[in-house]
Amino acid sequence: DKFDLYEQHLNQQMVRVLKTIGYDRHYKRALGQYLYDQDDNEYLDLLSGFGVFAVGRNHPTVISALKETLMLELPNLVQLDVSVLSGLLAQEILKTTPDNITKMFFCNSGTEAVEAAIKFARYTTKRQKIVFCEHGYHGLTMGALSLNGEEIFREGFGPLLPGCSSVPFNDLIALEKALAGKEVAAFIVEPVQGKGVNLPDANYLPEVERLCKQYGTLFVADEVQTGLGRTGKFWAIEHWNVQPDMICMAKALSGGFVPVGGVAMTQKIMDTVYNRMDRAVVHGSTFAKNNMAMAAGLATLHVMADEKLVENSAKIGSDIIASLNALAGKYEFLKEARGLGMMIAIEFQSPKSLSLKAAWAMLEAANKGLFCQMVTIPLFKDQRILTQVAGHGMNVVKLLPPLNLTAKDRDHIVQAFDKTIA
Ligand code: PMP
Repeated sequence: DKFDLYEQHLNQQMVRVLKTIGYDRHYKRALGQYLYDQDDNEYLDLLSGFGVFAVGRNHPTVISALKETLMLELPNLVQLDVSVLSGLLAQEILKTTPDNITKMFFCNSGTEAVEAAIKFARYTTKRQKIVFCEHGYHGLTMGALSLNGEEIFREGFGPLLPGCSSVPFNDLIALEKALAGKEVAAFIVEPVQGKGVNLPDANYLPEVERLCKQYGTLFVADEVQTGLGRTGKFWAIEHWNVQPDMICMAKALSGGFVPVGGVAMTQKIMDTVYNRMDRAVVHGSTFAKNNMAMAAGLATLHVMADEKLVENSAKIGSDIIASLNALAGKYEFLKEARGLGMMIAIEFQSPKSLSLKAAWAMLEAANKGLFCQMVTIPLFKDQRILTQVAGHGMNVVKLLPPLNLTAKDRDHIVQAFDKTIA
């Protein structure tokens, strides 16, 4: 059935390639950073469910916490009562956020966190406009879609939210132009852009913070992907020591078991939002703060601290980036490896030498992005690594692994790329 889908997107030749390399395999078991197929072959998982399994799949501590919470027969979703577990999780999260962030709101996904942030920003500032970045990604519901920096996602769904406009990432002049005198409610930005793993210039986020303050615009950091150790700090914003007004989070927060999302914010935003509560709810949803999500969240934070996963992400991640960059000197096709911690992109390019250039052109002509498919499929098949093609030109292979990779896994990755590109 899967192939019916592929047929729509790839040419027949590509489908034949996929079939011959055994795309009929399925993963029947998973533990930590490994997936196992029906014949018990082991694969290194470098996608971790698009970043949700930061602690690895089926972590025993998270499983125990979920089982034990169920056995306690706690009241769950007593909507008009206080949820104790959500208070505990909020407290733990707020220990990790910058000093200006003291309040927590929970929901069920990253997209919903972004939706909430849009509403909080509009309500708090009494302004309407939202500025976002080209190539940014914040989700696909109508509000979040209105902030999506890729036309391909937006096309055909208009009219989207009025008052939303984009600026290029890393372009402070464009940002100031978009904010100055324009009464903008919020600027939302991923500290490191997920699509293609685009890194901010050293002064970008500090200047974003300054400009937002200057023009009365709220600075919203979307850390749905970059948060919880992904970039080698607990929050990516720590790399640049900035203080946003809101931080959106989700993905890794519940160890991958239960959908969860949240917005951490300043006291001022929470106060404004809750002042309205005597009249109507500003935002909420039935399953927000459910016990399973909160218990999984508490266990996940415990595992992250206990296993020093943030530190491991920084150390092993930078080793992988350095080793893959060393390969760039060896292969003309390989442009660079870049990233922070365990958020890594390997970018390919058309080589300078004539014969290889012709090969590249042929592959590109045959199917846009085929070169990266040519890299990822053998990685999957021969080197037993699960990864994906990502980025605007589809010339990027992206790694978003569990944060518990070992030195042995690191060597496996580097050798796998080396052999595949060779
Ligand atoms: N923001 C960012 C930066 C993301 O990477 C994602 C998910 N890829 C989202 C928002 C949406 O999160 P979710 O899929 O949990 O709704």
